[in-house]
Amino acid sequence: MSDLAAPDYAEPLEAWRTWRVVSGPDGPRLSSLFFEEVWKPNAAVEARCNRRSWLDRFGRFRQAHAAPGEHCECGVYGARIEQAAAYLWHPRIAPRRAHLHVLGRVRLWGDVVECERGYRAALAYPAELIVPALPGGRSGEIADGLGRYGVPVRLVECRTREEIVQAARDTLRPAA
Ligand SMILES: [Zn+2]
Repeated sequence: MSDLAAPDYAEPLEAWRTWRVVSGPDGPRLSSLFFEEVWKPNAAVEARCNRRSWLDRFGRFRQAHAAPGEHCECGVYGARIEQAAAYLWHPRIAPRRAHLHVLGRVRLWGDVVECERGYRAALAYPAELIVPALPGGRSGEIADGLGRYGVPVRLVECRTREEIVQAARDTLRPAA
C-alpha cells in the first residue's frame, strides 16, 4: 500500500505531509501549511482548485475543474518523507508561539496525479501523526488532542529534523 514506486491508484496510497496545528473549537486541529484549510476529524479532505479565482482577479476566465487538475497545482499533496520533513520548523529554533508543525503519513485516494513534489490527490485523510516534543511547548497536550482524528499519534523527543524523520520511519510496520 505504501510502495511509492508502483502506486495502485484504485487503492488509497500513503505518502508523507507536514501539517500546522491550529486551535479548533474543542481542541487542536490539523491545517494545511499554506492555506487556512482545517482538516476535520473523521472526514476526508476534498481538494478544490483555487486557480480560477486567481485568474479572475486579472479579468481572465478559466473554467473551473475538479481537483487535481492534470496541468494545475491543485490537490492535496503527499510526498516522500524527506520532502515532507523539509517543511517542518527546525525543532531547535521553533519559536514557542509559532504554530506547532507535525509530520505524518497521509492516505490519498480518488484521482491522484503524480508530480515532481510527490502526489496531488482528490481526497485525503491522515494515517499517522508524529508530534515533535518541543521544550516548553504544549506538545503533549496537542498530541492528546490530535487523538480526535482516530489515527495513531506519537509524541517523539527530537532535536533535529533528522531525528523526527528517524522516529517517523520507526513507526512504520515491518510490512510497509
Ligand atoms: Zn486546479
